[in-house]
Amino acid sequence: MTERIVVAGGGPVGLAFAGAASGFDVTVIEASPSRVPPVEGFDLRVFAVSPGTRDFLRELGAWAELDEERIAPVKRMEIFGDDGARLAFAAPSGGQLASIVEAGRLTAALEKSVARRGNVRVLRSTPASSFGAGAGGAWAELANGERVEGDLLVGADGPDSPVRTALGMAVDERPYGETAVVAHFETEHDAQGLARQWFLPEGVLAWLPLPGSRISIVWSAPAAVADALSALEPQALAARVRDAGGACLGDLRLASGVARFPLRWIRVPQPVARGVALIGDAAHAVHPLAGQGVNLGFQDAKALARVLAERSRLERAGDLAVLRRYARARSEDVGAMQLVTHGLDRLFAAERPGVAALRGAGLRMVERASWAKRLLATRAMR
Ligand SMILES: Cc1cc2nc3c(=O)[nH]c(=O)nc-3n(C[C@H](O)[C@H](O)[C@H](O)COP(=O)(O)OP(=O)(O)OC[C@H]3O[C@@H](n4cnc5c(N)ncnc54)[C@H](O)[C@@H]3O)c2cc1C
Repeated sequence: MTERIVVAGGGPVGLAFAGAASGFDVTVIEASPSRVPPVEGFDLRVFAVSPGTRDFLRELGAWAELDEERIAPVKRMEIFGDDGARLAFAAPSGGQLASIVEAGRLTAALEKSVARRGNVRVLRSTPASSFGAGAGGAWAELANGERVEGDLLVGADGPDSPVRTALGMAVDERPYGETAVVAHFETEHDAQGLARQWFLPEGVLAWLPLPGSRISIVWSAPAAVADALSALEPQALAARVRDAGGACLGDLRLASGVARFPLRWIRVPQPVARGVALIGDAAHAVHPLAGQGVNLGFQDAKALARVLAERSRLERAGDLAVLRRYARARSEDVGAMQLVTHGLDRLFAAERPGVAALRGAGLRMVERASWAKRLLATRAMR
């Protein structure tokens, strides 16, 4: 009999897992209504999607659902320290380091691609109110009283993961005391596929290229600075962002609303238990400075689907031994990304004397070491 999987959360990661889990009957439960992105205008939320993720999305048939004209390639990246140090790197052999994709359109594309599969049903506008999992199987109870049962429960329900809470899975969670301020700007000069990031005394500022003469910015700033930035009039905010980036693209004009995301670090030491596995932000949240959160989540989805496909005939999808193979497969990648993003954020947030000089020396050292730059570029592309 075909085994059944219940996926809590139809965000990008839950939908990608549903698409990859062939050979199962999959039900995705999603609290929010269907998001049909408006034709005009650009989503405020964008993801820097790595080439590895792009390949996975191609395999799922979701990439083909995206309009190439709305995707901006990142060909090079420049990182600036607070004492003028600079690190620049490009993808090997003229390739791309990342693609900037609208979050809402990517989710819609994934939903379209899973709708073509006969084995997946997506229940929208359907919050689940309780969950259970164990040796006897897994279940989710919907707010309307209906119960969805399966052999495995996959928690893809985001950083506050109700699945994680319901099943009492331990979590180490710490607020950064920083808020990411996100907005889009029209620029006087084209970014030409160059992403830039500054480590400033007021936080980490990233400029990502968008199609046309536009950029998306993510300014991860101490909460008080973020409050002050979001209180500025559009012109004053544009001038502030322009000056923080040394006016390298000329004048800026605010082209969107301004959103704020309080930042947290989340680590789940054991993202599996009998009958349940966590993927995406439910299993880990990293600082956005490396633009890797959703990429890690897609790699979780791919790894869990692969481990399930490779299980022996005697094993069931919810067996702890099977799920532990998934947890092991992901622990190094997730741990390394958390260490690097957290470490960089703390290093650049430190104000002790001598630390600025150390940071500058580190960036210059990597800039001179071609092997280290290759390593960084290769890591970013996974
Ligand atoms: C400012 C900022 C910039 C970022 N930039 C990047 C970037 O450039 N590149 C990158 O890789 N990552 C980036 N990230 C990280 C990225 O946003 C997340 O990693 C990603 O959204 C996680 O996707 P997910 O599907 O795991 O979770 P979510 O997107 O949170 O989806 C979870 C889903 O579960 C649903 N849900 C929750 N509870 C229930 C319930 N009880 N019943 C039913 N449904 C439920 C929710 O409605 C939601 O749709 C950024 C993050 C921030 C804050």
